[in-house]
Amino acid sequence: SQGLMQAVPLTVGGIVERMETLYAHKKVTVLRNGTFERASFGQLAHRARKVAGWLQGIGLQPGDCVSTLLWNCHEHLELFLGVPAGGFVLHTANVRLPPASIATMLAETSPKVLVVDESMLPLLAEVELPAGLLMIALVGSSDAAKNSAQFPGKRLQSYLASIDVSHGAEWPDLSETAACGVCYTSGTSGKAKGVVYSHRSTLLHAMSMLFTDTIALSEHDTCLPVVPMFHAQGWGFPYAACLCGANIALSYRVSDPASLTLLIEEAKVTMATAVPTVWIAVLEALRKGEIAPERLVTLKRLPIGGATVSADLLTGFDQFGIEVQHCWGMTEVSPLGLVSTRRAGITDAQWQELRRTPGLPPVGCEVRVITDKGVDAPRDGMTPGELQIRGPWVADAYFDPGAEDGRGSEASFVVDGKGRRWLKTADVATWNAIGYVRIVDRYKDLIKSGGEWISSLELESALASHPAVSEAAVIPVPDAVWQERPVAYVCLVQQWQGPQPDLAGYLVGRLPKWQVPDRFIFLQELPRGATGKVDKQRLRSLSGSA
Ligand code: ADP
Repeated sequence: SQGLMQAVPLTVGGIVERMETLYAHKKVTVLRNGTFERASFGQLAHRARKVAGWLQGIGLQPGDCVSTLLWNCHEHLELFLGVPAGGFVLHTANVRLPPASIATMLAETSPKVLVVDESMLPLLAEVELPAGLLMIALVGSSDAAKNSAQFPGKRLQSYLASIDVSHGAEWPDLSETAACGVCYTSGTSGKAKGVVYSHRSTLLHAMSMLFTDTIALSEHDTCLPVVPMFHAQGWGFPYAACLCGANIALSYRVSDPASLTLLIEEAKVTMATAVPTVWIAVLEALRKGEIAPERLVTLKRLPIGGATVSADLLTGFDQFGIEVQHCWGMTEVSPLGLVSTRRAGITDAQWQELRRTPGLPPVGCEVRVITDKGVDAPRDGMTPGELQIRGPWVADAYFDPGAEDGRGSEASFVVDGKGRRWLKTADVATWNAIGYVRIVDRYKDLIKSGGEWISSLELESALASHPAVSEAAVIPVPDAVWQERPVAYVCLVQQWQGPQPDLAGYLVGRLPKWQVPDRFIFLQELPRGATGKVDKQRLRSLSGSA
């Protein structure tokens, strides 16, 4: 027999309706080119309806794609809401990728409309545009007519003007399993792959960010997703904030400590989120007195993830009254798959250890760790294996536009004995008796030395705990005797006055001696990929081991 409850579809349109009913007075503050711009959620929702009306008006059909090449700004928020709620699919393309990669993605998603920031025009001029593209809409004050010569045969017009003349649309009835957004993985471990979110996965993921034992975002917060909105949909923060009525602050394309401090002060930000690199710089500025701690007095929590978070970064903000929350995620997981929260019953001493891990899967997601023998790893906090995950906001397939059903290769998925599907993350993890998962490494970054595995993440974390070190990245290089040996690339904290530190000496005693890297190479900056993460492929080619 069936349950007798209402099957209300979970759709992005529902988020907009809630904003209109309950949160019309809530605020969006954008710091763009040195100026603060402000809008209310009511205005945002109104403009989201205009977005949908505009797209319907120019003939888009349900399921058609709209791609963006935008930074974090209110126009992007309007599109996050209006495109899916209007029945279309939003592909948020990564503006930091080279033209050829952008062209490949656009060829796959074949958007009918491309909304681009004016700063993207030189890049866009080098991108081969998809044949079915009806229009390029330009965000910013640049004159569309003057720029159109660069795009022969394509219609370029002002986004603002397009929205202004549009009527506001009513939301169509949509299936909650319909596609809502597309994001590509960062591609740090190979070709970027497309992930297609559904309305349902987006809503459930946004709800999960409101749980007390996950991110606990609420109407009392003002959240600042510094993470680009094209990176796994801004880690879901824009949708979660709109859903619960948390004010939103956006920093357009900047993430330097001075600009972030300005915005945090102005918008009274309580929670901000970005990859570790951004907060390493903020912590350094606080420690050096370049930022007066009082200026960040409203800031309470920093969920950090996307790459390993060093012990120094995890605890360094404590003295400033800011709690770092270690998270783990992937584009394929919308992205939140693990969050560090303190379980009931654990002691302060246990917590000091466990808070370093990205913690537990949120309600709704399940994880398991599978050893190289293909069996469940014992929950001893020591035995490594592949982290696998399943849940309502975990990808069921990658996007393959060539396949009839759009579903790509099965290589990253596995079905267990009970017929349940799991995503293979290619991350190496351990987990313990009370469920805390530790990320040991990525499979391709593990270093195999004399038959033993060395975790690059552990070495990086140990190096980052040295006071002179701001960041480190460790890669394997081939070795005639040991197969592979670790080499460390290190950045020192700015204006480090002391002599070059003896890092090998520092690591001996902290880690087994055979794990200590053979070489330490000092760089001004580590090379970064398009989402701000350290690009180990580039380090490998620097070292000649690619
Ligand atoms: P890509 O896999 O191409 O880098 P994503 O941006 O989706 O694309 O990154 C997901 C990956 O980032 C994870 O598989 C994991 O290796 C890494 N990652 C995310 N969060 C953490 C974390 N807290 N600790 C260590 N690694 C992390």
